[in-house]
Amino acid sequence: MSAVDINSSDELRDLYRELILDHARSPRHFGRLDDATHTAEGINPLCGDKLRLFVRLDDDDRISNASFEGSGCAISVASASLLTDMIIGLTVQQALDYFAAVTMRLAGPDTNQDQDSPLELGKIRALEGVRDFPSRVKCATLAWHALNSAIHGRSTPVSTE
Ligand code: ZN
Repeated sequence: MSAVDINSSDELRDLYRELILDHARSPRHFGRLDDATHTAEGINPLCGDKLRLFVRLDDDDRISNASFEGSGCAISVASASLLTDMIIGLTVQQALDYFAAVTMRLAGPDTNQDQDSPLELGKIRALEGVRDFPSRVKCATLAWHALNSAIHGRSTPVSTE
């Protein structure tokens, strides 16, 4: 395998596209979490994405497990897969920090995009490609809104509309 020039935005975009497709085809942590302590449903009527997020919080406010089920477009499924991969092991506050960072970076003004984030976004930076497609931003942020809702214990489904 040849070295990847990460200074090339085209190659980086290709890598991110591959990552999204991989998670969409083979979602991680897919399925019901029977011992979940928190759960929330997310609905994006514009696209038809519908998912339920499951989170298991330990006594020390750490996310010990997470999963999701549902159906939707590739971006919504990949986003939920990346989310569950990322939040397991985090504290609630860290997960909420990521929620804030992701929703700001995907939906926020472009002037924010080059600012250094205090968080290591890692693979979820792959989702930033949707900024070029405003109608898909809600697909990418749906699982994150469901996470926020689950952690805050809201029982009504969160909708992007
Ligand atoms: Zn979608």
